Amino acid sequence: MVEIRKDYFTDRLSIVTSDRGSRIPVRHLDHAKCPFCPGNESMTPPADLVLVKMGETLVKQTDAEGELVTNWVVRAFPNKNPIVTPTAPASYGEYPHYSEPAMGYHYVVVATSKHDEPFSRIDVEQWTNILATVQDKVRWLYSQRGVSYVVTFINYGKGAGATIEHPHLQIVTIPRLPPSLEAEAVTVQNSLNELGVCPMCQVIASESGGPRQIISTEFYIAFAPWASSHSYEFWIYPKRHQTSMLKLSQKELMDLSLMLRSTLGGLAKVLPGVGFNLVFHSSSEKKTTKQIHWHIEVYPRSSNWAGLELGTGVFVSETSPEAAAEELGAASRKELAQLVGIT
Ligand SMILES: [Zn+2]
Ligand SMILES: [Zn+2]
Repeated sequence: MVEIRKDYFTDRLSIVTSDRGSRIPVRHLDHAKCPFCPGNESMTPPADLVLVKMGETLVKQTDAEGELVTNWVVRAFPNKNPIVTPTAPASYGEYPHYSEPAMGYHYVVVATSKHDEPFSRIDVEQWTNILATVQDKVRWLYSQRGVSYVVTFINYGKGAGATIEHPHLQIVTIPRLPPSLEAEAVTVQNSLNELGVCPMCQVIASESGGPRQIISTEFYIAFAPWASSHSYEFWIYPKRHQTSMLKLSQKELMDLSLMLRSTLGGLAKVLPGVGFNLVFHSSSEKKTTKQIHWHIEVYPRSSNWAGLELGTGVFVSETSPEAAAEELGAASRKELAQLVGIT
């Protein structure tokens, strides 16, 4: 059984499934048993997008029946235990038991062939390969029937919900706009209509150079949000108004890679071994949907949400965003300086 259910009172959605078994928290797997390690390609569904380096160029390949691509740089394939599937049973319910079929696609993108390479050490060139693969897959998913929204995220390390430690991203499609994106889109739309300005552009202007800025690169800014829901939470925004991560130029893609490498490297220095969730908030590519100013949100998982957070939606952040920005800023600036060769 798998279906999407809506809360009695609010727009909160739950994907309810009884087919995935109990999820085992992240555990150490021997490379020989890790389905994401090179040599174990047959342990996953066939990959439909594999990046392979041939000389100086990258070539896109596909696992053909019985012939698996090896020596890959990035590998994308359908999740073996998907939370949504193209073959989800028709399941429609009316208020107060509203439900709809959990129709969609769930992909895994293996970020590196190296099992023990943490996200904080994945180099800029590899980040560019990862982001380009995600763009490719997300574009394709938006062309599929019944897809309203495509979300890309990372669960990495302790407390972040990952079951396999090998660094990977997940891409999940949802047949409607998820509530937190809807809320952002409504705010942006209202502000554009009433004031003619994007509220996210205003936030970027007010956080630039202020006490919550972490680092700034040519095209991006990272800052700790004013009302952080997690200690050391940070957001990465394109400085110019841009609605989708699919619209990046090659230069922007490389600069975003530099930003991700610097901030995740900085985070690992400040909180060694901390798990985190990273989520891309991008506008839906469906023409009729309201747009947002796209960005990335990173939630370090140094503590768990407890009763107040779960029960009321009021969050306790034990480190102030200003103090977090100071520490993350110093560490991320050092990483950035090393990467661009400034000492
Ligand atoms: Zn592995
Ligand atoms: Zn904007």
